[in-house]
Parts: sequence; structure tokens; C-alpha cells
Amino acid sequence: MPEGPEIFLAARRVHEAVAEQPSTVKLLCPTIAAKARSLRGVPIKRVHARSKAMLTEFANGIVLYSHNQLYGEWMVHAAGEPLLKKQVRLIITTAQHQTALYSATDFAWLRAGKEEEHPYIAKLGPEVLSSEVSPIQIAHRLAQFPRRFIADALLDQHVLAGLGNYLRADILLVAKINPLRKISSLSPQELMRIARACKLLTQRSIQRQGVVCPWAQYTAARKSGADYEAARFYAFDREGAPCWECSTPIARITHSGRGLFFCPACQAS
Ligand SMILES: [Zn+2]
Repeated sequence: MPEGPEIFLAARRVHEAVAEQPSTVKLLCPTIAAKARSLRGVPIKRVHARSKAMLTEFANGIVLYSHNQLYGEWMVHAAGEPLLKKQVRLIITTAQHQTALYSATDFAWLRAGKEEEHPYIAKLGPEVLSSEVSPIQIAHRLAQFPRRFIADALLDQHVLAGLGNYLRADILLVAKINPLRKISSLSPQELMRIARACKLLTQRSIQRQGVVCPWAQYTAARKSGADYEAARFYAFDREGAPCWECSTPIARITHSGRGLFFCPACQAS
């Protein structure tokens, strides 16, 4: 499932393809189709992400909320290129592109400036990817949930928005914190290490198209034959592979039903 950086990149691609230019919006999902007439000829002002939701804002103040859920996918096709053989929910046509949203079924119409009233958005914690959210704010936010395991808190979109399973594993390895520490046991310095790693790895993932680990390690792994997925993480999905920091084999446990990857040496405590 895509995490914050992937949704952010998808929103940027869609924004660049459709914003501030003549476009035709075709709504094919029954739950949103009725609104089509009022949007005829209205340009799209911007497309941006809030955690795993995408907000398409029209110049008349109408905002289309869509949640990708498990299978939803935005694709930007060149004009005239055939669409995928999947359930199309929305097509935005411009002179150069056809931008399609496939498979998603969770839609809502909102008013610009009132997006926070949507139940999904209302429950979101501070957005880790936002330039307005600082490491200090992230550390303070985590400290508000002292009884939670840090591994669970990082996945909970109500605590912090934008992280998922691969980012939480890699953030905790970079911060050198055992994933099964309770937040109440973490010192302010440890919380700040986690908070800084949250910012560093999400920004890195955006700048480097999903590559989270140091670039030198990524390129060395690719040269020795590893594919993109095997080379781009610190800990996630690397069970048994050597830790980039200390060469100890990465361990995997199942916690709250999800795979949790960590280095037993770097994250002993
Ligand atoms: Zn290690």
C-alpha cells in the first residue's frame, strides 16, 4: 500500500498534468457523477494529498475528496494513449494528458477551506511531510501518547499522518530505537531522534523516488544485482540481510498483525 511520500508524488504528478489549464472532467463513479454539470468548464486550481487522501480543488471552491484505499491508483497518460483495462472512476482530459483515477470508491464533495470537516481528514494527526510541521512538533505529538508502543504510534494516522510500514521500520533503525519501546520510556532526546528521522526519510523518499537508505548503499546494492525494492530500504523487507550500519542480520517479528523489521544490534534498546 502506498505511503505518504508515494501519495505526495502522485499528487504532484497529477497537479502538474491538470492544474491551471483548460480541462474536461468526466466523473464515472455513480456516487460522484451527479455533480459533473456544475464543474463543466471550471479549471482545477490544485491537487494535493492529505495522508492517503487526494484533494482536487476546482476554481469555484469545490473540492473532490478521494481516498485511494487499497487498490485506487492515479495514472497520468499521454493524450490519445489507451487507458488501462481497469475500473475508471474519473478522467481529467487536457491538451497533453489524460489523467485517470482507477478503482477507488471512496469519494466526497467538500468546500475549499472546510476540508478538515471530512471525518477522515478530521482524524489525521500532523502531516509529517508538511513543511509547516517541525521535528519539535512531531516529538511533542508522539509524547502525547505515552502508553503506545512507538512502532504502533508511527503507523497510526491519528498520531502522525503520512507514515506506513516501510517508513516506521526505517525511521526506527535510523533513530536507533527498539520498536517495542513504550513512548513513556523514551527520553526527549530519543523522541527528537525519531522526529528528525521522520522528516529526513520522508523527504528523502520524495527526492529520490522512494529510495530511503543512503544513496551510496543503494547504488552499491544495485550494482551487485539487487533490484529496486531490495536495495532501497534500511530495514524494511530485509530479513536476514546485513544491516547497512553494523552488518548484523535484520530481524523480523510480527507485531499487531504486521511485519516489523529491525536491527537487533543497532536497536537493542
Ligand atoms: Zn545494525
